[in-house]
Amino acid sequence: MPADDGAQPAVVVAGAGLAGLATALLLARGDVPCQVLEADGLMGQPSGATGAHAGGPYTSQPYVYSGLFRRQLLERLPDVYAELLDEGAQVLDIDGSVAAPSPYGDLAGRDGQAVQGDRLSLACPGGVVTAVLARALASEPLAQVRHGVQVQGLRMEGDRITGVRLPRETLKASTVVDALGRGSPLAPDFTAMVDEVDGGVVHSTRFYRTDRVDEPAAATERLSTVSGETFSARVLAQGPGTFAVTFRYLARDRALAGLAAPEGFSRALSLLPEICDRLAAAAPAGAVITGLDPALLLRCVDEQAPIGYLPVGDALCTVDVESGVGAALALEDAICIARALTAPVDTASDVSLGARMNQRLRSAYERSARRSVVRTRLWEAAVTAAEPAVRSGPNAGSPSRAAMVRALLL
Ligand SMILES: Cc1cc2nc3c(=O)[nH]c(=O)nc-3n(C[C@H](O)[C@H](O)[C@H](O)COP(=O)(O)OP(=O)(O)OC[C@H]3O[C@@H](n4cnc5c(N)ncnc54)[C@H](O)[C@@H]3O)c2cc1C
Repeated sequence: MPADDGAQPAVVVAGAGLAGLATALLLARGDVPCQVLEADGLMGQPSGATGAHAGGPYTSQPYVYSGLFRRQLLERLPDVYAELLDEGAQVLDIDGSVAAPSPYGDLAGRDGQAVQGDRLSLACPGGVVTAVLARALASEPLAQVRHGVQVQGLRMEGDRITGVRLPRETLKASTVVDALGRGSPLAPDFTAMVDEVDGGVVHSTRFYRTDRVDEPAAATERLSTVSGETFSARVLAQGPGTFAVTFRYLARDRALAGLAAPEGFSRALSLLPEICDRLAAAAPAGAVITGLDPALLLRCVDEQAPIGYLPVGDALCTVDVESGVGAALALEDAICIARALTAPVDTASDVSLGARMNQRLRSAYERSARRSVVRTRLWEAAVTAAEPAVRSGPNAGSPSRAAMVRALLL
């Protein structure tokens, strides 16, 4: 690889997850050359529902992308949107009610208003989106992508970035987009942690396939969620004839640990007619995938951060994965950053860009964190309750924890 010879583009995008790929694509299409550095050596592999996907560690998970994400794609990257549909991404009507406002209204774009059409979401495994973005980026001559490269730090002179430190070289750069995700090695030095919440929630997911790809749209369009006493479950269309079912429950609730095994998973499903009916004639495809939901975190850019340091996506904010807005926030920030870098920017606009992003992310984060804290508290209370909870309200029709535990012990 060429060493620090002055030939590299001045803009480096560190990380080729959703945020980095989207930023680089928008920059290249805005005539700004950039270099993308990604640690994963396998990026850009073929995609497809339930296939193996390169990218972040969770890319084989079922995703739902909020209406805001879908609209942003339609407006800014329509070719990517079209290719996602070709890849089998599903358009979901989450609440099924045409008149209802977007559940993510206060996250919506420029004017802060929900826009007609935002209520339609997109769904497909996370890796399908990154693979489609990676393919689009590969045909942009102004973007170079290097895989298998570990970003270690920044080189600075005074208050400015002058380069990116890699294991065996330093690349020249005046601007670094930190799209390295929640574990970014750069973020601790240049951002301050505002808040962090660990819900301690595990998810167990299984994909299902059915040959009935032509079944009526109503059967595939909507997302079904069951909120149980100490768990939630949802079925999510992920491609033609492909569904994912995910149970979420407390990591410390050992009695529900059986959900991570295929037999336990099937027995638990049989208690949920809303979901079982949706899976009529479907067969499991693959094992049960189980993992801990990541902690929610919010960072803000430090006043001491060097000029040219621009964090984006999970490097700055992760929200409850169940809310389906993490990707939308990442894409919206990518659009903001690309817009600022494709127009002449001075320090002042750099600062106001950061402030805008901090403010918007804070409201998204706080809402998500509140929801996560309340949910965890309720689940904890039901697990530790000596007496079964009085079951009323939204959970009244769902099986109790005791019924679920009995089914798992069978
Ligand atoms: C289980 C799970 C389910 C989710 N479901 C949804 C959902 O349904 N809807 C939704 O909107 N959001 C969801 N999210 C959130 C969404 O995945 C993130 O908000 C989004 O992917 C953020 O992308 P990112 O590019 O900022 O980070 P990442 O996707 O983490 O990308 C970071 C990239 O940087 C690379 N990298 C890291 N360190 C280095 C280094 N030192 N050098 C070089 N490269 C490096 C990584 O390999 C990776 O490719 C989910 C997250 C999880 C964990």
